[in-house]
Amino acid sequence: MLTATALVAAALAASLPAGQTARAAAPEAVPPPRPVTAAEARTAAWLEAHPQQPGNFFRELPKGGDLHNHLSGAVQTEYLIQLAADDNLCIDATTTAVAPPCATGTRPAADALTDAAFRQKVIRAWSMQDFPQGESGHDHFFATFGKFGAATSHRGKMLADVAGTAAAQNQSYLETMVSPASAGARQLATEVGWDADLAALHGKLLAGGRLDQLVREAKKEADTADAEFRDTAGCMTATPRPACRITVRWISQVSRNSVPERVFTQIALGLRLAERDQRFVAVNLVQPEDGEISLRDYRLHMRMLNYLHGVYPDAHITLHAGELVPGLVKPEDLTFHIDDAVRTGQAERIGHGVDLVQETDWRRLARDMARRQVAVEVPLTSNAQILQVEGVDHPFPVYRKYGVPVVLSTDDPGISRGDIGQEYRRAARTYGLGYPELKDLARASLEYAFLPGRSLWRPDPVRQGWRPVRECQAPQSERCARLLANNPKARLEWRQEQSFRTFEARYSG
Ligand SMILES: [Zn+2]
Repeated sequence: MLTATALVAAALAASLPAGQTARAAAPEAVPPPRPVTAAEARTAAWLEAHPQQPGNFFRELPKGGDLHNHLSGAVQTEYLIQLAADDNLCIDATTTAVAPPCATGTRPAADALTDAAFRQKVIRAWSMQDFPQGESGHDHFFATFGKFGAATSHRGKMLADVAGTAAAQNQSYLETMVSPASAGARQLATEVGWDADLAALHGKLLAGGRLDQLVREAKKEADTADAEFRDTAGCMTATPRPACRITVRWISQVSRNSVPERVFTQIALGLRLAERDQRFVAVNLVQPEDGEISLRDYRLHMRMLNYLHGVYPDAHITLHAGELVPGLVKPEDLTFHIDDAVRTGQAERIGHGVDLVQETDWRRLARDMARRQVAVEVPLTSNAQILQVEGVDHPFPVYRKYGVPVVLSTDDPGISRGDIGQEYRRAARTYGLGYPELKDLARASLEYAFLPGRSLWRPDPVRQGWRPVRECQAPQSERCARLLANNPKARLEWRQEQSFRTFEARYSG
């Protein structure tokens, strides 16, 4: 483990731009090695002794929450095919799901349930299955959404699938991205049009209660999804599926590669919704960050977020930022996206942040992110598949060195054919992380969740260590019980600590 860490550090130093040494880059060793309990040490020893055959270790490891995943991209492809068949959809010549009846040149999606060759063809088109290694997966990856899009109308059923996987992976929490009242938002944006005066534009959306009409529509969609989820997972029956145990919150997607009025309308809707319905917590800009309009309007989008954050200060913001590499965009576009998302766009978390060291004055940015505890959602597999960035080229260890909170996430595990256990295993192997580090990553995935209420931990745990708040220093105390009863976040964190004890007992016997 130590050797692997040293190797990564050395390679990292070598990969830094000329004239910058690792010593200059590292303000201090963060996160610092922490004291370990006897049970943690024995669990760590077990993992070190079984590097090639960890068995169920990574599946059983408590892994907190998945804070970055897109619901339709998270569903297993085989289940999407089932949904397409159930809806009597057809598959056309480009392997795209389309509405019935099945015209000439299309086949019923149901054929993919019985015809093995056809099924394989659909799975390859709708996911990264068998995608040639070493080839750029960017275009294939993003094209999948359009191909299976017609099969994604059952939000509750899809959630049952995704939450079921989370439960099987010993997670307890899910923030998943959907596009609420999507058609209505598009129509309202078209009717209202663009106005560079953002306050005036917001006023037009509110006029006649039109934005509130979309909020009601989005709530109704969520009600339908909730009911469908409970029904699919049998949550009201005597034998509820494990999916029912997962605490779920929605994040509203904004299609960033669209005309400005649509982007603004979706942001306003997502933030207003988050303030009015506790099932929704945040907005996130989606679609390729290197898209033509995404690039052209990047700073404009951050100004929109800045303005609307002032109107809706209680709603959270997390942003895909820096999901870029040299060659994908012109050099200038690599220099400011994360910085602008944090400083102007008011992002409390960043998704990907892959191009960190390309940004102007990135050390100051990293230090600021650490100080403000702006967490980075890192999906290692997605970054390897879409951007071909992995290992020492990935800024994962840089963020950690600077004390920026990092949370492992899956992004689109359905498309990437992965799961969160694979992300933890990948992080452990690639960066030489031992069990205590993995445990703290799982803790961070709940700490930086947008779940309401106080934390079990004292502030800035990534840099200051994971120490319980005063009320819970004596765990059985009445004060602690009261804190847990009143704070959903602390409660999930508390339960996870109990899960760790069970887990460690299994591996340290
Ligand atoms: Zn994403």
